[in-house]
Amino acid sequence: MAILEVSNIIKQYKQYDEIITAVNRVSLKVEDGEFVAIIGPSGSGKSTLLHICAGLDKPNSGSVRIRGNEITAMNPDELARFRGIYVGFIFQKHNLIPQFTALENILIPTLMCNKPDFSYEEHLRKLVEALDIGDRLHHLPSELSGGQQQRVAIARALINRPQVLFADEPTGNLDRENAEEVLRLLLHTKELIGQTLIMVTHDMSIAERADKIYKMHNGELFLFRDEHGYRLNSYEDEAKKSKL
Ligand code: ADP
Ligand code: MG
Repeated sequence: MAILEVSNIIKQYKQYDEIITAVNRVSLKVEDGEFVAIIGPSGSGKSTLLHICAGLDKPNSGSVRIRGNEITAMNPDELARFRGIYVGFIFQKHNLIPQFTALENILIPTLMCNKPDFSYEEHLRKLVEALDIGDRLHHLPSELSGGQQQRVAIARALINRPQVLFADEPTGNLDRENAEEVLRLLLHTKELIGQTLIMVTHDMSIAERADKIYKMHNGELFLFRDEHGYRLNSYEDEAKKSKL
C-alpha cells in the first residue's frame, strides 16, 4: 500500500474579491521508502500542498490518505494523535521554541504521542549521534549555529520515528556546506528509520538526489523526472507546443 495517496486536492484562498487557487487538482502517490522532491517557483503552491499532505492544513476538496487513513476527515484530536505517530515535518526556518533547550525541543513531540512499546532513549541516542548534536543538547537555540538549529529540528521531527517525513525547503536558510551536510544527514536518518521523505526545495542539486522530482506551477503538479531518470514533458514544453 502506498504510504501517501493524494487525489484531486483543491485549495483556494479568498483575498478581497479575488479567489486564489493555491493548489489546483493535484494528485500524487508516494510509495514506501521513496524520496520525492518538489520544485517550482515561489508562490506556485508547494508549501500549501505540503501542509495539506501533512495534515497541517485542510483542502477545500479532495482526499489525502496516509497509510490508507483519510486525514481530511479526522477531527483535530484524532489528527493530532495520528500526526504524532505517522508524520514528521521540518520547516525552512527551524521553528524551535527559543526558551527551551535543544533537548527539550527534541522531546516535545513525545509528550503528545506515547507509543506504548517504544523507548525513546535508544532512538534519541542514535539520532543525536547521527546528527552530531551531543554536545549542544543543553544549549538554547540562540546559542546554536543555523546548521545546528536545523539538525535539532530534524531530531525533533524524527523522535517519534515517523513513517513519512515532510520537509519544506529544509536547507533554504543554509549555506552550501551546511545544506549538503543537512541533506546527507536526512538521507542517513532516512535509512536509519526507513521512512519516506517528501521534500520541497529550490536547490536543483538537492532535488536531483531524489528518486522522483515533481514540479509545481500555478498550483498544478507535474512529474518532472521519474525514478528511471527520464525527464518528462514539463509544463514549459507543453506551453511552447501550444504557442506553435
Ligand atoms: P510556495 O511555497 O510555492 O512559494 P505557497 O504555497 O506558499 O507557495 O503559496 C501559493 C499561493 O497561495 C500564493 O499565491 C500565496 O500568496 C497564496 N497563499 C498561501 N497561503 C495563503 C493564505 N494563508 N492566505 C491567502 N493566500 C495564501
Ligand atoms: Mg513555500
